[in-house]
Amino acid sequence: MAFEGLTERLQKAMRNLRGKGKISESDLRSTMREIRLALLEADVNFGVVRKFVKQVQARAKGSDVLEGLNPAQQIVKIVDEELTKMMGETAVPLNKSPKIPTVIMMAGLQGAGKTTTAGKLALKLKDEQKARPLLIAADIYRPAAIDQLQQVGEQIGVPVFSMGTDVDPREIVEQGMAQAKENHNDYVIIDTAGRLQIDAKLMDELKDIKQLVHPDEILLVVDAMTGQNAVETAEGFNEALDVTGVVLTKLDGDTRGGAALSIRAVTDKPIKFVGQGEKLTDLDVFHPDRMASRILG
Ligand code: GDP
Repeated sequence: MAFEGLTERLQKAMRNLRGKGKISESDLRSTMREIRLALLEADVNFGVVRKFVKQVQARAKGSDVLEGLNPAQQIVKIVDEELTKMMGETAVPLNKSPKIPTVIMMAGLQGAGKTTTAGKLALKLKDEQKARPLLIAADIYRPAAIDQLQQVGEQIGVPVFSMGTDVDPREIVEQGMAQAKENHNDYVIIDTAGRLQIDAKLMDELKDIKQLVHPDEILLVVDAMTGQNAVETAEGFNEALDVTGVVLTKLDGDTRGGAALSIRAVTDKPIKFVGQGEKLTDLDVFHPDRMASRILG
């Protein structure tokens, strides 16, 4: 289960405070030390942890928490609020263009869940907004990607524009956009190529596609299971593409929590959705406050 180790350790760190009518500064210090270690062990970014601990400590000391009623409960509340803040405070909705179609470009490394997420998002838009999306298959390098997108499209009843694997992705995207305009699709979701790692050629292609279609939304798909690597990936893509949001996948797995807790703070880009399973309905809006509660258990 996701965050299991982190939840356990955070609960343990704060349990020591429970039942105490008054908490000394040294109680607070040792609790904060444990919280710090718990976060680092969950693979949360070092700088993010440092800032978090400083903030919680300042709030606990600055108010009347230590002398007040139920100090332990108040510290749990502060930790909850600061975790929420770390993840962006509130849910951030998808960008929408005033004029159809709204263009969503998916980006990410191979295996992160980009193609699956493109399908999940199309289904969500269709179900919740009665939208008529068009999926564009522009990942010509991973041989199975186009077939996979077509299968997903069939399952969810969403058309997929494809020109096979021998055409330049820029051309595919241009033609796909023309088709969307002709058919009055209100959303276009572009599945772009991924690579095993970030390289210049991939980024150039993605930058060109961005330039061509001026997406309303560039969603970076990252695998939560990869912890700090996910954060580094997000930084790399963000530098090149200035993404507008992140989708964190595989939160149903036993991820430690580092990616979920660091990405927003490091990149300053909101996590908009989380993938919580392999089924096409397993995509949820990301709510920082609910995630903080889930992490605290
Ligand atoms: P792409 O290379 O980025 O397009 O990745 P795919 O969409 O092909 O996904 C790679 C694998 O991850 C597939 O087996 C997906 O079923 C799986 N996957 C994607 N999202 C999730 C998720 O949220 N949870 C789980 N458990 N698996 C996922």
